[in-house]
Amino acid sequence: MMNTALINRHVSAVAIQFAAFAAPLESIARYVAMSMGDDAPPLPELQHYLSKRETQDVLAADFEVGLWVGPGRAWRLVSLSTPPTMEAIEHRLNTFPDSVSTQCAYCLIDEKNHYATELVKIYDLRGNPIHRRVVHRACYKPFTVMLQQYERVNSK
Ligand SMILES: [Zn+2]
Repeated sequence: MMNTALINRHVSAVAIQFAAFAAPLESIARYVAMSMGDDAPPLPELQHYLSKRETQDVLAADFEVGLWVGPGRAWRLVSLSTPPTMEAIEHRLNTFPDSVSTQCAYCLIDEKNHYATELVKIYDLRGNPIHRRVVHRACYKPFTVMLQQYERVNSK
C-alpha cells in the first residue's frame, strides 16, 4: 500500500518549489521521489499513481496543486496556492507575461500554438472579460481568488 497522503504532500512541496513546471510525467515523478527520499515508492508505481485522474482531483481539491497532461504529452505541475501577502498578490496581478495571448497569466507556462485549446479568457468580478489575460482552466480559480482579495482591499 502506498502512503498517498504522504505522496500528495511531497507533490505539493515540489509544485511550490517550482511554482510551475512543464515536463514529462516521469521527470515530475522523479522530483517527487527525490523529495520523498527513502519513503518513495518504486518510480513506476509513483508515476502510475500520479497519472490517475482521481489523484489529480485530490491534489487540486485538497493540496492546491494542478497536475494535468498538456499538448505533446508534456505534463504541467502548478502550485495553485495564492501568494500570502497583498504586496505579492499585487505584484502577480500587475505582471504581464511576455506573450499575453499564449502564456497563462497565473502560472506563466507558454502553450505556444496550443493556446486556443489550453487557455481560456478570464472575467473580472463584474463578468467583463479582462483584456490581455488568459489562463489554464486549472489556474482560473487561484487567479480569481487573487482578484477578489485585491478588490476587497482596494474597494475600501
Ligand atoms: Zn496556468
